[in-house]
Amino acid sequence: MELEFVGGAREIGRSALVVDDTLLLDFGMDSGNPPAFPVGDVDPEAVVVSHGHLDHVGSIPALLAGDARPPVHWTPPTYDLTMLLARDTLKLHGGTYDCPFTEAELARLTQVSETHGYRETFEAAGYEVTFYDAGHVPGSAHVLIDDGETRLLYTGDFHTEDQQLLSGTTARPDADIVVCESTYSDTSRRPRSEIEAEFVESVQTTLWEGGTVVVPAFAIGRTQEIMCICEQHDLECYVDGLGTRVAERFLQSENRDFLRDPELVRRAKGNARFVDGRDGQRKSGALAGHARRGPSRGQRKRIAEQNTVIITTSGMLHGGPAMTYIPAIRSHPVNKIAMTGYQVEGTPGRDLLDTGSAELDGRMMPVSAQVEQYDFSAHADREGLRSFLESYRDSTVLVNHGDRCVAFADELRADGFDASAPALGEPWSTDA
Ligand SMILES: [Zn+2]
Repeated sequence: MELEFVGGAREIGRSALVVDDTLLLDFGMDSGNPPAFPVGDVDPEAVVVSHGHLDHVGSIPALLAGDARPPVHWTPPTYDLTMLLARDTLKLHGGTYDCPFTEAELARLTQVSETHGYRETFEAAGYEVTFYDAGHVPGSAHVLIDDGETRLLYTGDFHTEDQQLLSGTTARPDADIVVCESTYSDTSRRPRSEIEAEFVESVQTTLWEGGTVVVPAFAIGRTQEIMCICEQHDLECYVDGLGTRVAERFLQSENRDFLRDPELVRRAKGNARFVDGRDGQRKSGALAGHARRGPSRGQRKRIAEQNTVIITTSGMLHGGPAMTYIPAIRSHPVNKIAMTGYQVEGTPGRDLLDTGSAELDGRMMPVSAQVEQYDFSAHADREGLRSFLESYRDSTVLVNHGDRCVAFADELRADGFDASAPALGEPWSTDA
């Protein structure tokens, strides 16, 4: 078996792995500035996708340019999330370099899509392929590829600890080669329950003091996690941005069974007020089916004056409705901004944490509101990665998807593993 990492090697973003020149696993984009896409020309016979995050699916419609029509295999939620993200990319960046595909290519995706559940083996480009629950976001999968001689396990992103939306992964299918993500190989995290309790107490304190809490969160997974936490602790909340549509998708009949507790997510949606273009607020679902305009700045400013919780994109304050909410609440020390994940160096979210001010919507702004950070990551931490890999002591481990892939591979080798971290574009073979 020959592998070539055309993205996601010793980096995070634009994940893409080619197997024997015929099968493509993931085809993401790095949405940084400038954006980055997988390298080289790929012309796969078939595509298999691990999960619906932009850094794993963002470039997929581009595979349908010209006459190419490779079948694309994924779970129903991954298909849905990819379509949602791709339409969003087209709307924001269509016709520019930041969008690697056209409307026509996206439309073809519905024709080549083939959905599969967990543990249902299917055929793709001559390989036997099986998805296993990866516990990362709804529909996320470890991908097992079998060519009759060699079994390759591509972990995709995964989590070993239970979250509100999902149980941690317990699948450890036998494999000869394991391509393992390593996003948090140097981070040890406290139990999720402790982090949740601390978050809830902090939010409640601000609400009792009469303040507003803005919770910047990624649209896929994180927003709905926080919605579930609010529901369980009787915290009223508004939800704004793409995360509202993702919540609706998760509850559709073909996707519900990928949730740990669909009833909890349904209650969380009932507890939340989705911000849309009608009157700036509605009890979610009340007006489903009506055409939506975008909410106005004025509507958002009125919500920001309330003694409430606002869950909104973007998670690292790159843009989105947070660009109205944060400036609106920033001047009052009773208010709070509760970040819900790691903030990448150079993002406004990171600047805000480090310096107390950030460039928001093109203007440098000092922030007097309290700023806090909670690690609600959907990735395994260092202990999670190590416990997962304990099941693969006799396999070859290839480390990818991380900022310190080489260091983690060195560490595994020192502990007796056959481990390495291939570089971008570097071919790797079982015969080598
Ligand atoms: Zn992911």
